[in-house]
Amino acid sequence: MSGLLDVEGLVTRFYTEEGVVKAVDGNSFRLEEDEALGVVGESGSGKTVTALSIMRLIEAPGRIEAGRILFRGEDLLKKSEREMRRIRGKDLSMVFQDSLSSLNPTLTVGAQIARVLKHHTRLSRRARWRRAVELLAAVGIPEPAKRASHYPHQLSGGMRQRALIAMAISCNPKLLILDEPTTALDVTIEAQIFELIGELKEEFGMGVFLITHDLSVVASFCSRVIIMYAGKIVEEAGVHELYAHPLHPYTRGLLRSIPPLEGGEARLQSIPGEVPDLINLPPGCNFSPRCALADERCWQVEPELSGITPGHRAACWRAERPAMAGGGHD
Ligand code: ADP
Ligand code: MG
Repeated sequence: MSGLLDVEGLVTRFYTEEGVVKAVDGNSFRLEEDEALGVVGESGSGKTVTALSIMRLIEAPGRIEAGRILFRGEDLLKKSEREMRRIRGKDLSMVFQDSLSSLNPTLTVGAQIARVLKHHTRLSRRARWRRAVELLAAVGIPEPAKRASHYPHQLSGGMRQRALIAMAISCNPKLLILDEPTTALDVTIEAQIFELIGELKEEFGMGVFLITHDLSVVASFCSRVIIMYAGKIVEEAGVHELYAHPLHPYTRGLLRSIPPLEGGEARLQSIPGEVPDLINLPPGCNFSPRCALADERCWQVEPELSGITPGHRAACWRAERPAMAGGGHD
């Protein structure tokens, strides 16, 4: 059985003058129907490139070099550009990182939604406008009929993000990719946006692929989470399992760098060091230069992502040791 999305051995690289950037390096994961899967990692870990690869929007000097991207059982990497244009924005939709600033300033938000509908449906001009207003209402924009005639700059950041989401769900996608959808927004608006996405997810029955650098966002919204580091998935688990038994030292570092789930004092502790240069990756485990637990083997041999307990995968030599997997290290 395949999931809604099955990514297998995805490799995406950029051929720059400085060298080959290994942005996504052989990753496999599955997103089930109706599932909300979170992807977390520091800036530069390959989250956006993963999403753009799924959308088939990698442009030169980038290339998808290997793998399969099965969307509803069909490999997107085998589709023609023409076929992709039919899929993108319809069954497979994305709210892009920094898209708040990329809304077309010269078109009203209603017109921008209507444009997507024109591309993918046979609705009349009038029906498209009506649907655009309905969609703005569905994402909680007050006075949607009036707002549809407004230009992006006339809307607040939160309202613009809602309009973008309305655009992304306008053709009832099966999978919605959200790339850091709330980073430009304050915490209250962020919570409202996630509540909205959760409602829409239930209502429309879609899968959600949520990219964020914030584990606390994932905790409240996703059922499973993937942790990425330097282009690789280093850990994957159900959200509760990940919080209770993080296996990878990087994940533990991330968890230490967020405020506790139940509120209370934030004791932010960032992970010392930096993400390695993706052109010159260290031998062995990519994380060893920052890892307090790294030993000889970690420096020499790259650990594979493998199942440690059912539903829980990690790419760490130290995680495989029974003493580590058995708890007592939290
Ligand atoms: P994230 O979304 O996790 O912050 P990205 O997926 O945007 O990270 O980037 C992963 C890596 O790919 C980074 O090292 C980035 O510099 C590189 N990269 C992304 N796009 C390009 C590009 N067009 N040309 C060269 N390198 C790129
Ligand atoms: Mg990104």
